[in-house]
Amino acid sequence: MNQNLASNLLTQLQGIVGADGLILDDDLRNFYSTDIRGKCETTMAIVQPGSVNELQAVVAASAAANVAVVPRGGGASYSSGYAINTPASITLDMSKLNRILEVNKTNSTVTVEAGVTWEALNKKLTGCSLRTPFYGPFSGGIATIGGSLAQHAASLGSAGFGISADSVLNLDVVAGDGTLISTGSKSAVDGINFFRYFGPDLTGIFLGDCGALGIKARITLRLMPRRAYRSFLSFSFESFEQLADGMASVARLGVADCCFGNDPTCLEQMMRAQDTSIEAGKIIAKAVFADAPNPVAGAWRLSKMVLTGQSFLKKAGYTCHVICDGHSHAEVRQKLALARKAASRYGRKIPNTIPMVISSNPYFSIPQPMAEEIRRGIPQHGVVPFDRVKELHGKIQSLYNKYKKDMQSYDVRTETMFSAISTHAFLYEPVLTWADTPSEFHAHYFRKEFAGIAISAKENPNGRELVAQLQTETARIFSDIGAINFQLGKTYPFWERYQEDSKPLLLALKATLDPKGILNPGALGLPA
Ligand SMILES: Cc1cc2nc3c(=O)[nH]c(=O)nc-3n(C[C@H](O)[C@H](O)[C@H](O)COP(=O)(O)OP(=O)(O)OC[C@H]3O[C@@H](n4cnc5c(N)ncnc54)[C@H](O)[C@@H]3O)c2cc1C
Repeated sequence: MNQNLASNLLTQLQGIVGADGLILDDDLRNFYSTDIRGKCETTMAIVQPGSVNELQAVVAASAAANVAVVPRGGGASYSSGYAINTPASITLDMSKLNRILEVNKTNSTVTVEAGVTWEALNKKLTGCSLRTPFYGPFSGGIATIGGSLAQHAASLGSAGFGISADSVLNLDVVAGDGTLISTGSKSAVDGINFFRYFGPDLTGIFLGDCGALGIKARITLRLMPRRAYRSFLSFSFESFEQLADGMASVARLGVADCCFGNDPTCLEQMMRAQDTSIEAGKIIAKAVFADAPNPVAGAWRLSKMVLTGQSFLKKAGYTCHVICDGHSHAEVRQKLALARKAASRYGRKIPNTIPMVISSNPYFSIPQPMAEEIRRGIPQHGVVPFDRVKELHGKIQSLYNKYKKDMQSYDVRTETMFSAISTHAFLYEPVLTWADTPSEFHAHYFRKEFAGIAISAKENPNGRELVAQLQTETARIFSDIGAINFQLGKTYPFWERYQEDSKPLLLALKATLDPKGILNPGALGLPA
């Protein structure tokens, strides 16, 4: 881009967001252009609007200058969603749009700015004995509500209430020319934000769009009472097939709030990565105690955890963990009994430490290095109906068998996580890890958290190359089996898989909402 035009735009943007809201520092521009997967181009500037008016003005000015606008929430996604494709781009950092605007207890709605994190929202709502049905990905300590809606997120509350999109009522979205579009009941003249549908579902077209159709500015979510009683179940299975049957049986009943699982390697890794310091133990104990409905239950949970220890996990094999909640002990007991009966046909019950700890402290931070080794890891996922799960697993295992020797040579390992989504879908998430130096993304967090600790690790280019190959083949397996993917970003083959007859509609939407094609170019694989 012409230097004069670029500096004119930057001056204009500084006029809109102030000197504090325009970041030109090289290290930060580099970091904001990088996700766990890596980096393409470097952003020209990081722009932080502090209000929706500023957000609109930033988009309008960038459109006039033909400069791409790439939104970034918490930056916790790993499919190049906010990667910079073209050098004439700015990164729109949503972190200052972080106000919880209204908790409306009468109407059971909450309206937030898009940069609010799930953890911040959950903290506020817990104080009012409320929750959103879906209450975040495990990365919710940094992941924003806007970023999660842009690419769909699953996990907390997903067995009971589906994914992020299923909790959304209305949106205010900034289109590619800076205009503000309201959806659902709010799209009527003087409309109120309380209902998803008013005519065609325009809210839906902006969910899972990866920011290619609009920038989510304000979001209204549905609320429900936070159920005071919660209890947990864990099961161990001898094979993946038994785990899949067990999880599907529990999910189909619709009694679980969360239902997730791990393969043995993933469990082992979780145990190794866990902070075993006394300080960390105290934090968990405090959280478990606070999560219990009363002090007696809190003391009971803690003593059970201490007595049980963790050694049982060493031989647990495939494990599945269930969280059930309700308005009374009786309701929770009934749900647990149903889930126990369903899963016991395939596996055996084990102590419920994992779901108890996760329920009390559900939001993880970016994984930190372990003293003895640095491993990079990139997750991938596919969502399938229950009747395709075993076939999918078989194909992924055949792939790993094909590359077994290379994986051993280059120290590439796999671990897999599973999640039930509502009563009808299974999320299969293999993570490939390999010994390597920290990626630029991780190094940023290490610098902050591990200042002063020397990190020694060797470059592993062969490992990286092998992981890239395995990921390409895994994505193909997902496509061939009919899996869908959530965080499509610029990585998963979405556009290639889209039916020819459906393509013109999506292209027409893109052309109308973003006539200059400045919104997150390359997202969803849409043609320029
Ligand atoms: C430790 C860890 C645990 C994780 N656990 C889960 C999990 O349990 N479930 C899960 O689904 N995922 C999980 N993830 C992946 C990821 O964190 C989530 O998908 C999360 O929702 C991303 O939110 P974010 O704010 O970080 O989005 P970002 O990574 O910042 O952005 C994601 C996409 O949304 C776009 N975008 C961001 N904000 C907006 C906006 N306001 N308007 C329009 N577009 C926007 C970006 O351009 C990008 O394409 C995990 C990641 C990590 C590192």
